[in-house]
Amino acid sequence: MEENKEKSLADQKREALLYRQKNGYDRLPREEEPLLEEYCAAYKKFLDGGKTERECAAYTVALAQARGFRPYTRGQALAAGDKIYYANRGKAVMLAVIGSRGLEEGINICAAHIDSPRLDLKPNPLYEDSELAFLKTHYYGGLRKYQWVTIPLELRGVVALKDGRLVDVSIGGNPGDPQFTVDDLLPHLGADQAKKTLAEGITGEQLNLLVGSRPFREDEGSERVKLAVLDILNQKYGIVEEDFISAELSAVPAFRAADIGFDRSLIGAYGHDDRVCAYAALAALLELGTPARTAVCVLADKEEVGSMGVSGMQSHAFDHFISDLCDGRQVPLKTCFENSFCLSADVTAAYDPNFPEVYEKRNSARANYGVGLCKYTGSRGKGGASDAAAEVVGYARRIFDKAGVVWQMAELGKVDQGGGGTVALYMANRNIDTLDAGVPVLSMHAPFETVSKLDCYMTYKACKAVYEAEE
Ligand code: MN
Ligand code: MN
Repeated sequence: MEENKEKSLADQKREALLYRQKNGYDRLPREEEPLLEEYCAAYKKFLDGGKTERECAAYTVALAQARGFRPYTRGQALAAGDKIYYANRGKAVMLAVIGSRGLEEGINICAAHIDSPRLDLKPNPLYEDSELAFLKTHYYGGLRKYQWVTIPLELRGVVALKDGRLVDVSIGGNPGDPQFTVDDLLPHLGADQAKKTLAEGITGEQLNLLVGSRPFREDEGSERVKLAVLDILNQKYGIVEEDFISAELSAVPAFRAADIGFDRSLIGAYGHDDRVCAYAALAALLELGTPARTAVCVLADKEEVGSMGVSGMQSHAFDHFISDLCDGRQVPLKTCFENSFCLSADVTAAYDPNFPEVYEKRNSARANYGVGLCKYTGSRGKGGASDAAAEVVGYARRIFDKAGVVWQMAELGKVDQGGGGTVALYMANRNIDTLDAGVPVLSMHAPFETVSKLDCYMTYKACKAVYEAEE
């Protein structure tokens, strides 16, 4: 006798008609769990290996070289299966695996960014006040200033000397290194400050980095603390105060990537936005065989400030790289672009039950529900959005389901609550069909952001599916 009852008509209809999502862990095959952990362990190394776009680009090139990628030079002959990269001024990287089909059939692109919000030093940063030495900063990207005080910070970047040499600076990341910090008021004297809004409580000009307090010995002159700091910098790096003018130095959070939670299901780190998608796009490309269509991974700079400049996604550097590939095959660039697909791989906001008032629950990305696809970003009436066509979203559903990717649809937050953008519109402007997709993040743009491991892994699988898509 049959134990199971026939499903009721309503249950049959429910199954057939309703869109119901399960938690990613209910959909993740058991055998993929170790792969997920292995992937996330490598991702954490990537995070610790690069805290600025320059470091991240250098780490990317090292990983690529280890996997047989070679630097591309204009005019170089290429064949199917060739693996190449082009580093743009040490701040952005484009990598490609040449496909078996012609470039007139288009390319499959995953584009992410490797710059993150931080505190850049001003051109004339060093000063002494009340026998304490500070560095003036100018914040980079959309950060909430109150979050950047009283945390340990590191100094990373380069100083370009007048004689043409470039000095690498990295202080705070190695065991035993000194670190830096920005002060805040004590609560005992914070009554007036506490009445201000979060946006006004700490101002941009208060984000001054504390860098020293010991005066130069046996000296009666002025600015002895500043002098002593400069003396240390001069001995270690051979620089003088004027050299700050041609430097790019940034204060970045000193945290290392760490598992979060008793169950270790999450990762906390600085710079998930957007290294979590950058690593997904990169890792998927590094292990690619010979794809049908040429696969291209773009790790761009300057997304956090509008994607402009020579190393941003608006730069012609990308067009030049792809047109160089096209020139070698006598394919018009425009033909290649109009047949291409781009996954704009960038993070989205994860629904946070501590702040339900800013999210629309039915259309928010949730941690552990997989890579979040955003048909559109923007703000207000979708202003500034690159609204992917229904056909493009349909295509993504098809290739992701086929590849076993756990994915979800995502809007950033409630209508008129705020908004954001990515590199998507700059790719779409090139006549490339583009869809936004990425990892949902808690505390986005904070010095310490949190993501789910499952979502990281599923974004990697999504990028792999994009590169391997044949239709
Ligand atoms: Mn981003
Ligand atoms: Mn961002």
